[in-house]
Amino acid sequence: MRILVTGAAGFLGSHLCDRLLAQGHRVVGVDNFITGAPANLAHLKSHRDFQFVLHDVTNFIELQGPLDGVFHFASPASPVDYLELPIQTLKVGSLGSHKALGLAKAKRARFLLASTSEVYGDPLVHPQPESYWGHVNPVGPRGVYDEAKRFAEAMTMAYHRYHDLDTRIVRIFNTYGPRMRPNDGRVVSNFIVQALQGQPLTLYGDGSQTRSFCYVDDLIEGIVRLFEQGDAEPTNIGNPKEFTVRQLAELVLQLTGSRSPIVERPLPVDDPKVRQPDITRARAALGWEPRVPLEEGLRRTIAYFRGLVAA
Ligand code: NAD
Ligand code: UDP
Repeated sequence: MRILVTGAAGFLGSHLCDRLLAQGHRVVGVDNFITGAPANLAHLKSHRDFQFVLHDVTNFIELQGPLDGVFHFASPASPVDYLELPIQTLKVGSLGSHKALGLAKAKRARFLLASTSEVYGDPLVHPQPESYWGHVNPVGPRGVYDEAKRFAEAMTMAYHRYHDLDTRIVRIFNTYGPRMRPNDGRVVSNFIVQALQGQPLTLYGDGSQTRSFCYVDDLIEGIVRLFEQGDAEPTNIGNPKEFTVRQLAELVLQLTGSRSPIVERPLPVDDPKVRQPDITRARAALGWEPRVPLEEGLRRTIAYFRGLVAA
C-alpha cells in the first residue's frame, strides 16, 4: 500500500512511519516541523520507500499518484505546545482534518484520525468508555485542543456517512517513549529529564491526579490493527493501568537512581483529575491489549533520554 502520514516528524508519527515501512508499505510523510523534528526522520532519509513533503496541512494537500491510506497525526499534542500554539492547534484540527479527509476522498483511501482522550475532558465517568460524551470546557485554555479534536471526529464521521469514506478514529491515551522532545512539557519527558539532570521534579498540584501511560510500541500496534481490522466507531487505545502522577515521579526517581527532590507547582487550569481508558472495545474487536508494563517502558525511555542528555 501507499500511505500518507501527516505529522510524520512528530513523536508518534515517526514511529508509525517506521512501523508501516517495516510492513512493506510505501510511506509519504508530511510535516511542517511546528512541534516535530527532522531528527525523528533522519534515519529514513535514504529509505527507498519513504518520501518526505514539507507542508502545512491546513493548506490544500497536493499529491500525485495513487494512495491507499491517510493517517492524520498532525497536531500539537503536549499541553504546553497547544497552549503556546492555540490558533495553529485549532486550525490543524479543523482545516487540517478537512484537507486530509478531502485527500482521502479524492484518492478513495482509508482515513484514520488520531484523536485523543481529551475529548472526554475532565471526565465524570471513570474509566472512560467510547460511549461517554465527555465533560469539556470549550472556552478554557485546553479547549483549543479538545474542541479541535471533537470537531475533527465530527468531520470524520460526516465524511464517513455522507461520502461513504472508509474511516477510523483512534482515541489515544497518554503515550510515552523514545523521540518525545526533552522540553515538550509532558509529564514523562519532564520527570525523566529533570531526574537525569538532578533538577527538582515539578509535580503539578499535589500529584493525586491520575493518568494511564501506554508505551509507544503498544500504541502503534493497536493503531495498525484498528486501521487494518477496525470499523468507523471511535476506539480507545491506551494502557488501562492507572497511576497517580506522584507515583510516576517516585518511579522515575527509583529507576534513574536520581536524588532530585519533588516540588509542588500550581495545577494547570482544567487539568483532568482522572484518566483511564476502558479498552473493552479494542480487546474484543482487535484482539489488542498493551504488553509493556510502565516500569519496562520507562527503562527504555530513560535509556533514550540518557543518550540525549549526555550528548
Ligand atoms: P508531536 O507534537 O510530537 O507530533 C505532531 C506533529 O505534527 C509534529 O511533527 C508537528 O510538526 C506536526 N504538525 C502540527 N501541525 C502541523 C501542520 N499544520 N502541518 C503539518 N504538520 C503539522 O505529537 P505526538 O505526541 O506525536 O502526537 C501525534 C498525534 O497524536 C496528535 O494528533 C495528537 O493529538 C495525538 N495524540 C497523542 C497523544 C500522546 O500521548 N502522544 C495522546 C493523544 C493524542
Ligand atoms: N504534570 C506534572 N508535572 C509536569 C508535567 C505535567 O505534574 O512537569 C502533570 C499534569 O498536570 C497532568 C499530568 O502530569 O496532571 C499529565 O500531564 P501531561 O502534560 O503529560 O498530559 P495531559 O494528560 O495533561 O494531557
